[in-house]
Amino acid sequence: MRLSLFSRLALGYLAIFLLVTAVSAYAVFQLHRFDELTDSVLKVDNRILDYEKILADLLLSQSRYEQKFAISRDEALYNEFLRLRRDFNLQLATAITIGDSAAGTILSKVQQDYRNYEELVVKEAALLRAKKRYPEAQFKQEKDEIVDRILVSLEKLRADQQHAMSTKVRELAEAAEHAREVSVSITVACLISIVAMSLIVTRSITRPIAILKTKTREIAQGRFEGGLNIKSPPELGELAAAFNLMCERLKELERMKADFFSSMSHELRTPLTSIKEGTGLLLDGVGGQTTDKQRKLLAILAEESNRLIAVVNSLLDLSKMEAGMMSYEFDLVTIDPLIRRAIAEITPLVEAKQIELESNVNPSLPALRLDPERILQVLRNLLGNAVKFTPKGGRVSVVAASVNGNLQVSVTDSGPGVPAESLTTIFEKFSQGSHKGAHTRNGTGLGLAIAKNIIKSHGGEIWAESQVGRGSTFVFVLRC
Ligand code: ADP
Repeated sequence: MRLSLFSRLALGYLAIFLLVTAVSAYAVFQLHRFDELTDSVLKVDNRILDYEKILADLLLSQSRYEQKFAISRDEALYNEFLRLRRDFNLQLATAITIGDSAAGTILSKVQQDYRNYEELVVKEAALLRAKKRYPEAQFKQEKDEIVDRILVSLEKLRADQQHAMSTKVRELAEAAEHAREVSVSITVACLISIVAMSLIVTRSITRPIAILKTKTREIAQGRFEGGLNIKSPPELGELAAAFNLMCERLKELERMKADFFSSMSHELRTPLTSIKEGTGLLLDGVGGQTTDKQRKLLAILAEESNRLIAVVNSLLDLSKMEAGMMSYEFDLVTIDPLIRRAIAEITPLVEAKQIELESNVNPSLPALRLDPERILQVLRNLLGNAVKFTPKGGRVSVVAASVNGNLQVSVTDSGPGVPAESLTTIFEKFSQGSHKGAHTRNGTGLGLAIAKNIIKSHGGEIWAESQVGRGSTFVFVLRC
């Protein structure tokens, strides 16, 4: 699913919001249930218990007054009975309206019994006032029976309500325990989901960013291979497509640059070779007698055209290497003859500068797969620099040995050395370090860049070690 960054973040937050809403809804639902149960205990059960007590007291008081009236025939006592009867009926009616169905059934029965009791009392009072004879004992027994029945019903009502109350309190405790467990589980699940979601969303964003970061580094190092395949999130996918386009463009520019160097080098090499050949012929007297002054000028011409040809050749080589068009001919060879050849080539200059040149090549070094012409080119560059930068009467040495199972060649000189900050930059093209004067005039800043390219193409390493004023050592390692 290719979701945009905005949608990912929005969906992530929405999911978190929904989870939190679910937890809150559950909490509200539980609170509502607690509220209902507490309400029911306080407003129903407790009140019915109160009414039960009031009704029982009123009934007993009434019974006492009407019994006393039956004996004393004192109307005041009967009036008291009537007052309590009103109260009783009122309280009973209110208790019935509370609306608890089980209690309602019992209270209706109480109401029924009470009506019978009222009737008996009223009937007895009328008989008493009429001073007629009536079965007193039977009346008393019936009234007592009814009062007892009502008291038993009220007792049952009390017991039922107490039982209902304790059941609700137990339910409340259970519900609280359940709510606690569910809340803890939901909270833990929410936290895990939030962390997981954050990780997934963050990772889906940071992973393509890390790929883009690596690609940017590669581009900075001059590797313009595109091929970024990021589809999601779409914003970064578009960025990756732009990167690929940029790489294509950079590769094209690199190719154009290499083509330019190459054609320019060809254009320059042909006339230069003609100048060199022509100057040589003139120096050989082919064009007739030359004066000393003319010979001196012709010698300068020959030297400068040689130097220019070398520069053009170096440019051509480097442009080919950078365009990946340099062809290598690998062969199984030993390094010894290559070092000897490079030394032989530089010997006239070494002698002219009275430099002490020594070489120390381990004769038992194994042969390894390399392009001899290119490695010779590296040796020429390193030795050429060493002799060029070493002052008259100085020392240069070449050592080839096996180090950690690899071939290590080092060229050491007693020249001016290279400052620490230039030890790596001198391997970049056109870098001429910090030396001023005749040396730079004779240089192109291409020799070490070419050497580095060749050694890299052999899978090896090249570096410089130096201290200013104490000479330098240029080392390359080829894996055996
Ligand atoms: P150049 O043609 O200028 O010598 P290189 O690529 O061969 O170009 O060298 C680049 C720079 O590195 C030189 O200009 C010089 O400053 C420094 N360098 C190379 N070899 C030596 C050396 N043996 N001693 C001191 N500096 C050196």
